[in-house]
Amino acid sequence: MPARILDGTKIAAEIRAEVAAEARELTAAGLRPGLAVILAGHNPASEVYVRGKVKSSEEVGLYSEKHTPPDSVTTAELLALVRDLNRRDEIDGILVQLPLPPQVDAKSVLLAVDPAKDVDGFHPMNVGYLSTQRPGLVPCTPAGVMEILRRSGIAIAGQEAVVVGRSDIVGKPVAMLLLNQNATVTVCHSKTRDLPAVCRRADILVAAIGRAGIITRDYVKPGATVIDVGINAITDRAQFDRFFAGNQKREESFQKKGSTLVGDVHPEVAEVAGAITPVPGGVGPLTIAMLMSNTVKAAKMRRGAREVAEVNG
Ligand code: NAP
Repeated sequence: MPARILDGTKIAAEIRAEVAAEARELTAAGLRPGLAVILAGHNPASEVYVRGKVKSSEEVGLYSEKHTPPDSVTTAELLALVRDLNRRDEIDGILVQLPLPPQVDAKSVLLAVDPAKDVDGFHPMNVGYLSTQRPGLVPCTPAGVMEILRRSGIAIAGQEAVVVGRSDIVGKPVAMLLLNQNATVTVCHSKTRDLPAVCRRADILVAAIGRAGIITRDYVKPGATVIDVGINAITDRAQFDRFFAGNQKREESFQKKGSTLVGDVHPEVAEVAGAITPVPGGVGPLTIAMLMSNTVKAAKMRRGAREVAEVNG
């Protein structure tokens, strides 16, 4: 039986609608959540991502502003900008779009972001909150993975979860979130011995690798839930045929655009998995939805909590 498709586009729309309702309530109380995005220099991919983030902010009713320092920006100038945004009360979320120009010390810029406004959840303080199960801001893509599982009714506690990939942005936080929800978690990487055998243990398999279609059917236990975080553009005909031969819809779009997207999971896995996220339309749409959600959460945790404290004297 083919796998149930976990529709990320639909789940992301639900989350955005909930965030919009919360944003309306906060705005009515004089606390309109605000997001500041820093896009330093010119990077076509970053420009597309930032445009999406700003557009989505407007759609859910957040205040948003974009800062676009030039390619020549220095670390000191970016630190001054971050500190200014840290001080401004109406800014709840600060997002520094990566990569930064090469002369900039990216680590010190990210470290300068107030952890209470760190809507990417990358600050070591938020990493620590996550690993010690304290309230904090969780990285957007991993938080999106958990929303897909939760809203699709997939049990986590007591399940064997295998995460392939150990990046700070995806693999490690996903593993920590699954562990916090009582899964038995194994984290794999490029040095893992017999990756297919380890993956076959998984009731929940998360692929965050960045290698087109590396997870084939022999990596997957029949009936497992497979979450594909990977986004890989393919332009090569032979590669296209390896993944999508006979797929009319993909064929048409490949012919038209000269490329198509494939995840880290081979499409054939849909024949053995119990449930699977598609690419595109799986984890991808959740990332921006969770950024919106994090901005509202940051506003509530910082300004909302202060209001309550003031009322209570
Ligand atoms: P990354 O920083 O490059 O990390 C990749 C991880 O995969 C590393 O831990 C690496 O192991 C491991 N790996 C690489 N080749 C492997 C192999 N052959 N076998 C086993 N493990 C292997 O990538 P990332 O930032 O985590 O992103 C992963 C993927 O998710 C990419 O395709 C990216 O585009 C996508 N992504 C999607 C979203 C979204 O919104 N859906 C957001 C972020 C990322 P080592 O640590 O040993 O090198």
